[in-house]
Amino acid sequence: MDKILYFCKYNITNMKIYKFGGASVNSAEGVRNLQKIVGKEKGNLVIVVSAMGKITNALEKVVNSFFERRADVTKNLQAVIDFHTTIVDELFEDKTTITAELKQLYDELKEIIQQKPSLSYDYDYDRIVSFGELISTTIVANFLEQENSAIQFVDIRAGIKTDDNYREGNVDMDLSQKLCDHLFAEREKKVFVTQGFIAGTITNQTTTLGREGSDYTAAILANLLNADSVTIWKDVPGVMTADPKRYKEVQIIPKLSYKEAIELSYCGASIIHPKTVKPLQNKKIPLFVKSFIEPDKDGSVINEYPYKLNLPPIYIDKSNQVLLTLTPRDFSFIAEEKLSKIFSVLASYRLKVSLMQTSAISFSFCMDYNKVNFQQLVQEFKNEFEVLYNTDVELISIRHHTKEIIDKLVGEKIVFVEQRNRLTARFVVSE
Ligand code: ASP
Ligand code: MG
Repeated sequence: MDKILYFCKYNITNMKIYKFGGASVNSAEGVRNLQKIVGKEKGNLVIVVSAMGKITNALEKVVNSFFERRADVTKNLQAVIDFHTTIVDELFEDKTTITAELKQLYDELKEIIQQKPSLSYDYDYDRIVSFGELISTTIVANFLEQENSAIQFVDIRAGIKTDDNYREGNVDMDLSQKLCDHLFAEREKKVFVTQGFIAGTITNQTTTLGREGSDYTAAILANLLNADSVTIWKDVPGVMTADPKRYKEVQIIPKLSYKEAIELSYCGASIIHPKTVKPLQNKKIPLFVKSFIEPDKDGSVINEYPYKLNLPPIYIDKSNQVLLTLTPRDFSFIAEEKLSKIFSVLASYRLKVSLMQTSAISFSFCMDYNKVNFQQLVQEFKNEFEVLYNTDVELISIRHHTKEIIDKLVGEKIVFVEQRNRLTARFVVSE
């Protein structure tokens, strides 16, 4: 009997997850558009919202000035407040409730920056940057409430629990399952509004899931709530064969497998956060990528397909890369021990390698060129390795490559590294 009831609980309360990124809510018009899109959905919804526009970057400035105890911290925080005030002024006629709720958040932030920083940058980072999502969801929930009485605001820090690995919390799915079952229990005709990207520890400290992590939040919630689907609303019409901002001849890819999606995001496609696919694949939940500008168009679906999809060449280029080559000073082989040393240094800088290649006594890898830490990183490697590097290189990845497309994209460029298998060809070239 118990089992049957449990089963029913999920069948009668179908749920969809909509994720709105920063670009979709960067203005009052964006929030109104979100309302229109949400209004068309008649079933139960969870709306996962990112910080508005580029507010996460603006909050990173607040963190840096706070942590370095610089005087401009107040000015940096004021810029964040002003940005939201403009949007609120345009959105609400009666501003009493929204102003009071936001004041509470701003006061909390002001109180934090008046204290001394902690000894942990990452802890302070999460504590401050998370306000971007707390503010955006407060605005969105209040705005939707004007027309829909079934809105429920959820502070996701009480539902998604991570360890205390600040800035890239590891999610405890079992604990989060129990908490979310409870938080999202009353599902009938409800529209839940909650934050992407942020989470909490078991002692209720705020954590985040890594930059651009709101997609991942949407996928975690879909998994935990057994959602029917996730839709990510973007400023592009779907998953494209290349970045439409850079290339003219691009087309939309209507269907992709989970495997294709994960490979593309590994190659650096910014369409979805790399961690997004696993929680969905594990429960076979489809992921729709659609345009918030043309919401009625089909967009792309990432799902499991029982047949082979014939995909056209898909290409991704990541500019502003640096290619490093490390050679042990004592001429010893590059093997497990040396590699594990290299990776532990990279992990301590939170750096992600975008391509790697080994030879007998050298290890080459490509990563985002991060000016702040780069010289320090090189210095650290120099203790043990001879270090050579090229900045200003570009990493071109081509899935389903053909000779024509390789000629077109790589052509006469100087190639530093080349890797090719049946499905993927990757080139590190000078920009
Ligand atoms: N607001 C966060 C960021 O910009 C999370 C996200 O947008 O997905 O990184
Ligand atoms: Mg964002």
